Amino acid sequence: MNNPAIHAMVRDPGGAVIGLDFDGTLAPIVPDPDDARIHPAAPGVLAELGSLVKAVVIVTGRPAATAIKYGPGLEKVPGLVVLGHYGFERWEGGRASAPPPPPGVLHAEARAAAPAAAARRGGRDDRGQAAGRGGAHQARPRPPGNP
Ligand SMILES: [Mg+2]
Repeated sequence: MNNPAIHAMVRDPGGAVIGLDFDGTLAPIVPDPDDARIHPAAPGVLAELGSLVKAVVIVTGRPAATAIKYGPGLEKVPGLVVLGHYGFERWEGGRASAPPPPPGVLHAEARAAAPAAAARRGGRDDRGQAAGRGGAHQARPRPPGNP
């Protein structure tokens, strides 16, 4: 073994952070991603590893809560951090958090949902006009930072 990173961790395990992927690392790649589950021994191993290093972190493209759901026992691993959505959200100590969406995202989501909402009202928008037609009743794009 001639890996400088491994040697550094062996010399100073308390300064090491172990980052692991979920799919293909803790859980096998399976045809249906909803069937992926971590190895049943993984939470115990991660708890032991976590007692030796500074932190154990799981980084995944999945929502953090999904990694916890598909990893029975992970919620009991002391100090475990799960970074979901490739780091956008953070799960730690049973609590998930994420920064607020960038300006304009909520407005864009509302605009995207408007045609479906109008269709549910019988093809009419909230002013009684036919849905999907142009006009002053449609939301206009706004400059960034002015949602
Ligand atoms: Mg992977």
